[in-house]
Parts: sequence; structure tokens; C-alpha cells
Amino acid sequence: MASKRQIVVGGVPIGGGAPVAVQTMTKTETANLQATMDQIRTVAEAGADLVRVAVPRDDDVEALRTIVRESPIPVIADIHFNHTLALKAIDAGAHCVRLNPGNIGGPEKVGEVAERARAAGTPLRIGVNSGSLPKHLHALERESPVEALVAAAVEFVELMERLDFQDFKVSIKSTSVPNTIASNRLLSERIDYPLHLGITEAGTKWSGSLKSAVGLGTLLADGVGDTIRISLSTFHAEEEVKVAWEILKALKLRERGPVLIACPTCGRLQFDMDSVVAEIEERLRAYEDPIEVAVLGCAVNGIGEASHADFGITGAKNEGVVFSRGKPLRKVPQAELVDVLFEEIDKYAERKTVVVDDEAQAAAGAEWLAEIEAENAGELTPERLAAMEKAAVQLDEAESPTAGRRFTRA
Ligand code: SF4
Repeated sequence: MASKRQIVVGGVPIGGGAPVAVQTMTKTETANLQATMDQIRTVAEAGADLVRVAVPRDDDVEALRTIVRESPIPVIADIHFNHTLALKAIDAGAHCVRLNPGNIGGPEKVGEVAERARAAGTPLRIGVNSGSLPKHLHALERESPVEALVAAAVEFVELMERLDFQDFKVSIKSTSVPNTIASNRLLSERIDYPLHLGITEAGTKWSGSLKSAVGLGTLLADGVGDTIRISLSTFHAEEEVKVAWEILKALKLRERGPVLIACPTCGRLQFDMDSVVAEIEERLRAYEDPIEVAVLGCAVNGIGEASHADFGITGAKNEGVVFSRGKPLRKVPQAELVDVLFEEIDKYAERKTVVVDDEAQAAAGAEWLAEIEAENAGELTPERLAAMEKAAVQLDEAESPTAGRRFTRA
């Protein structure tokens, strides 16, 4: 169930139907102002809505004042064990403070932080981690880790409510993808506060991205989760932001820049797809329009499968076409395909509409495509097999050769 309540972190709404916010965490020593600010600017450029910085020492709180003032995006202070640092982070102007009520020194200290946060108008994130559940839940944790995580989160929510503090979001973090999914689903049914999603210590760029896509994607597709952080073992925090955006774009929850689609390739491939796709992906980073760009490894199927794409290329032998929304724009030598594709995208970026500048080129492209398709009409390509399967699923019972016989036993 989606959260009903909304909090606002430095102007960014979280929950209550707001777009899912992307956040990351700096990997620098927070007190190293230059390095921390450089990384914050980099992640902001990559699309982070919020950034979290670790505040384990007084030096970091000192730096926090400047960071909050200079950061282009709201800053969340990450505090563990030491409630006085949380108080100081609020005083330093942090846009939000993340703390784990289970390790901050008891309800009284949580109360002190809540009091200070209320006075300053600072929202909190209260987090529960699978590795640090309160002692009285350890037996339940052995029996049902999911129930234990949810019970801990609900207890903390009740504590905040007893303290008459409602300006918070909640996170349950686990290294287990199934437990993250199950516990957040359960929690979303029990509380209506915004939820922060993440998989703790997800892993390297490759495995961590996949785990996060499965875990967070499953929850987001159900409407659970209001802000996400992808935790990757890399010093480059912007990689976390890029992965978060790919998840949100794949689910069509948010739009940001172009979406690249590419055929999986097969034995009919007519050019060096790996390097071409990599080059296109890299060059597309410079564009803001949420266009879809397709790369087809051959023209055997025409461009039918990618006819919805705003722009695309396909090639065969030494030639290829650049197409747009199902129609060829130009026929060009294969070596020029990528550059011509970007010429067309640039024209679109300027005019905000697709224009066929050269009808003769477009007609030559259409003719060339028709020839290739005709030459390969009998080929069972992955796309044609998929189309056949799709057609079979939609088979009209009335037109089926076995119509009416499905339940006949005679
Ligand atoms: S047949 Fe399909 S999958 Fe194979 S190279 Fe051509 S477009 Fe790609």
C-alpha cells in the first residue's frame, strides 16, 4: 500500500503520492569539504534528489554547516550511536537526520532529538537494520526475521507518536532481498508513513544493481516505497544514482533523459553491436529529452519491433537506415549510422518535432528495408517467433481449428 503521509526534506516531498525520490550517500570523509562537495555536485548532476552524508565525529558536524549551505540538493545527516551528534546536525541545518532509535541510547535520547527536530522543523528518518534489532526481538528474529524487522519498525513508530512527532519516514533494511520485500510489504500495511527503500550492502556494481532492481523494483511495482537508495560497493556514488534512475525509468515511475533499447543480437547480427550500443549510451547521457532510442542488429525484421521508438538505427552489409517512429529518415553507409542518428536527435532536440528533411533519402531507406525484408521473409527471427507466440496467445476461440472442442471428452 502506498504511503498516505508526506514529509518534505529540504523542499523535496517524500510520500503521499509524490514522485519516488532518488537518494545516495557520499563515500568521502564528510569533514573533507572539498571531496564531499565535489561528490555532492557529481551526484546532483547525475540526478540525485537528496544526498546523505555520514556524521560520526564533531569535525563532520562542523563541515555539515558549510555542506548544507553550498549543496545544490538537500542534505541528510546519517547518525549512529551518538544522539548529541544528531542534536548538533539539526543545529547545523541538516535537511533531515537519519537515526536508528535502537542504537541511539534509549527513548529519552530519542525524545531529545525529536524535540530539537520539531523546534527546527527538521524531518527524521528512523531506520531499522537487520543487523541491529533490539534484544527483546532476537528470539522472534530467529523464528521470523521479517516479523522481527516489522515489529521493531512499528515499535519505533509508536515511540515517535508517543513523543508526538510525526515528521518522519521509515526504513527497514536487510541484506536479504526476499526479507526486504516481505518486510516492507508488511510494514506498508501497518503504517502510513513514507518508506525509504534499500538493500543493505547490496554488493558490487553488477550484483548490487541486480539485487536492488529485483528487491526495490518488486516493491515499487506494487506501489510501495517513496524514496530509494541503491547501495553499491563503489567510491563513485553517481553510479548508485544512475541505477536508481534506470529502475524508476523501467517501471515508468519517472522520466529522465533518453531510454535506450537494443535487440539481444543473434547470428544475424550485421555490425559490432557491443561497441555501437556502448557509444550510443554514452553519447545519450548529454541529452535531456525522454526519447526512446532503438538499436537493431540487422534489418531482417524491418523496424516493426522498434516502430514505437522515437529514433533508431538498423544495418545490413555495408548500409543501414536511421528511422523515427516506424519510418525511415535516411539511408546511410553503415560507418555513418551513429553520427547520422545523433544528427537527427540533435535536430529533434532543437525543434522538438521529427522532421523528414530529405524525402528522397527517406524513400530510399524504405525501399532498401523492403528489399531486405523480402529477401529474408522466411527467417524465423527472435522477433518473428515472439510475434507468433503473441498471436497464438490472442487466438480467437471462434476462429480456432479446435473451436468448441476444448472440453469435449468423446
Ligand atoms: S534478428 Fe533480431 S535479434 Fe537478431 S540481430 Fe536481427 S534484430 Fe537483432
